[in-house]
Amino acid sequence: MALGTDAAAEKSAAADEHDYLFTGEPGDLAADWWVLAACDGQEPEIFFPLSPQDVRAKEKAVAICAKCQVREQCLTTAMADRSLVGIWGGTDELDRARLREHTAGR
Ligand code: SF4
Repeated sequence: MALGTDAAAEKSAAADEHDYLFTGEPGDLAADWWVLAACDGQEPEIFFPLSPQDVRAKEKAVAICAKCQVREQCLTTAMADRSLVGIWGGTDELDRARLREHTAGR
């Protein structure tokens, strides 16, 4: 399915937003573990589905995350930064919101 102009621009913006983590610049949260990320080189749209209803993309991403040796670090990063979108550590934004609620309720 071809993406419309708005969808393509939205996806590009999400990928650009994500890039700051991998530049090695100050504030690069992932500099020490990103080199081991199993998603390195994967299609960005798998990890940045345009909607929560894109179950296929999420399933693909979660399967990759399940085999990733830096999953814990990745999830910790995403849990700490509520602005991050997409799949991190095998979770999407909704999963992480639920995890935060669960943790806060303890
Ligand atoms: S846990 Fe998933 S999103 Fe995080 S670095 Fe590994 S493969 Fe990438």
